Parts: sequence; C-alpha cells; structure tokens
Amino acid sequence: MTLLKSWVASANSAETPFPLNNLPYGVFATDAETMPRCGVAIGDMIFDLCKAEGEGLIDLGVAVFDVPYWNDAMDLGPEAWVALRARLVELLSEGAEALPDYLVAQADVTMLMPFKVVEFTDFYAGKHHAMNVGTMFRGPENALPPNWLHIPIGYNGRASTVVVSGTDIVRPNGQTKAPDAEVPSFGPCKRLDIELEMGAIIGGANAMGEPVTVQQADDMIFGYVLLNDWSARDIQAWEYQPLGPFQAKAFATSISPWIVTKEALEPFRISTPSREKPLLSHLVEPGPMLYDIDLAVTMAPKGKAASTIARTNYSQMYYSAAQQLAHHASSGCAMNVGDLIGTGTVSGSEKSERGSLLELTWGGNEPVTLDTGETRTFIEDGDTMILEGTAKGDGYQIGFGSCAGTICPAKPFPK
Ligand code: MN
Repeated sequence: MTLLKSWVASANSAETPFPLNNLPYGVFATDAETMPRCGVAIGDMIFDLCKAEGEGLIDLGVAVFDVPYWNDAMDLGPEAWVALRARLVELLSEGAEALPDYLVAQADVTMLMPFKVVEFTDFYAGKHHAMNVGTMFRGPENALPPNWLHIPIGYNGRASTVVVSGTDIVRPNGQTKAPDAEVPSFGPCKRLDIELEMGAIIGGANAMGEPVTVQQADDMIFGYVLLNDWSARDIQAWEYQPLGPFQAKAFATSISPWIVTKEALEPFRISTPSREKPLLSHLVEPGPMLYDIDLAVTMAPKGKAASTIARTNYSQMYYSAAQQLAHHASSGCAMNVGDLIGTGTVSGSEKSERGSLLELTWGGNEPVTLDTGETRTFIEDGDTMILEGTAKGDGYQIGFGSCAGTICPAKPFPK
C-alpha cells in the first residue's frame, strides 16, 4: 500500500496523519453550526458527513449522520462500514469532482466525543507492564499472577467518565494509607499517573449467553483510538486487593477524537508474541490481530515545551483486543455496540518504552528529567500529558490525533 491521492491537497503528503488511506471518524462542532456533527478527517480538513448525507451524496439506506455520535453508523454492521469507506474513497479521491463546500478546516472546530460509550472495560494485557508493576507491588517472584498467561485480566471500568482529548482532568481525592501509618487518610492523590493504551471500539453485539470466537470478536471491532487510563497510584495501592482497581481509575479516562477504522489499519496487522504457555482453544488467534503502531508519551509543564518521555509500539501486547473481547463474552456476557475496551498499558522491554510514570520512575524512586530541566516522579497540577500514535506505511502514515489532558488542582471535598 502506498499513499492514495485526494483532491484535498493537504492530504497528499507523507507527513499528514490523515491521508486518504486513513479516513478516521469523529464528531465536531463549529462556531457557525450549533449542532455537533459527524465528519471524516482528510488532510487538515474535515469532510462534513451530516451535510453529505442530507444532500444525498452518501446513502446508507437510513440516516445515521444527523446525530452527534457514531453509534448509529456502527449499528449498521460491517457491510455498511465497508460501503461507507468505499463511497468516501470514491468521493475524496484525486480526479473526483472537488466538493469544497463540504469541507471544514480542522483548525476551526472543536472535537467532541466520537461515540457514546456504553460500557468501558480495561485490561492488563501487556506482559512488560504486568511484570514491572507486579514486581513493584508484590516482588519479582509473584510479579505475574498464575492466571496471567492463560486469560487477559480485566476489570469493569466506568463509561461515565470517558472524555475526549482536551478535557481538563481534576486531580482525584481518595483514601490512602502510607505503609508506616496506623490509619488511612483522605485527600488529593499524590501519585497521579497515566497509562498509555489503545482503545478498541465495539461495533457489533452478542446476545447474553452467546459467546463469540476470536475471529467473530475481531469482526465486531469497529476501530481504535488512543486511550489514557489515568491512574491514582496511592489510592490504587490501598484499595486494589482483592477486587482490583476502583476509585484509582474511575475518575477519568481520556481518548483521542478520531476513530481509526480497522480497514485503515489492515496493512499494519501483526501477530501477538509467541505464547509462553499454550492458550485454551477459545482464545487462540486465527490470524494476526495486533497492529504495528508506534506510540509515544509527552509531558508538558504548564506554559512550557513538551518532552517525550516514552516511545513504544502496540505490537508489544501479549493479547489482542479481539482476544480480550472473546474472553469478555466467553461467560455469556453480552457486549454491545458502543462498548469500549482498554487494551492495557503498552510497555516495551526497555526503560524508555514504559507506558506509565509508575514504571518510568520505578515507583517514584527514579525521577524523569524533562527537556526543560525539571524533574517529575508523578504528575503535578498544570502538567499536560499527551499520547500520540502513528502507523507508518510506504510514503504515508496513519495518525490518530493526539490524546491530551491537563491536570487541574483537586476540589475541596464537600463538608
Ligand atoms: Mn489500564
């Protein structure tokens, strides 16, 4: 696959994150239009799908773009997804009639949540991350729980606090207990962290009681976003046993604004690493279901330049999102259109490849030095954390748009 050319000039560059090969889906608002609407990114522009559908340029049999979310389009199923992408390629390709009236500059819009998150589940599917965190919390002998190589471990998170990139994040309050303290205390989180993850957006459903195969699970995935699973490490350490994270994760999750479709990522499919123990058959991948996507984390103190603090790749994960989804439904749990699956923190084997500050600073003991000369163990008020992701093709790239969030001071607890 090489760069596909468009009549939108800014899309025909090796550097744009949004060439015709990508066509990611989002929801945007402009000053002129009070109604937020669905659109597709092309170069530095957005093609207005609400207008295109309203005027008959796009017809999926039923109107799905007169709403400010992608759930209705996802609900049409994979055949419609393919038809929509084919029609967009036809409309936006070089040689097609230029349609400048349907374009809005990305610089002039506010990006909103691209879909209504129905439920959110987060996994723990990166082996380097699990080894690092397990070593810090339980020692190297007990780092990897006995189930880890057999099932993708997850927990049910909160859909209510999944927010789009650019949304400020208020530092959470919570209960913590210092190792040498006799009783716990309550107050602002002191060890606020990120987790560099991908999010898989589920565009299909299975009925309660009806599990799916890994292949069916892959077919149910509509696309991917970048996902920051904000984490309060001090709250987590006190609360997590025996049922896993709760308030340490429930206060916020950020996602990037553009849904990069599975079709756009098709050239970048890659297999999970070789199995250290054979999986039971219901979790075996029938083909490559991870993707070769370069990921990076940057950190910017208030008013200062950003420093890259980690670089890794999504292919480092031990389980794919399809395996996670198949595991999720294996008990008969119903999964629905609009569900969001966090892949788990993506960390590589090298120190510079760690996808959380907990790992980068080894529990807060080895501060990272930013390009500004400042050091950090965990996130301070005013700091902005940005995730970025790029799949690199032959003369083109597939970008996700950034996933950014700035930390605001904790709010006083109501008396
Ligand atoms: Mn996580």
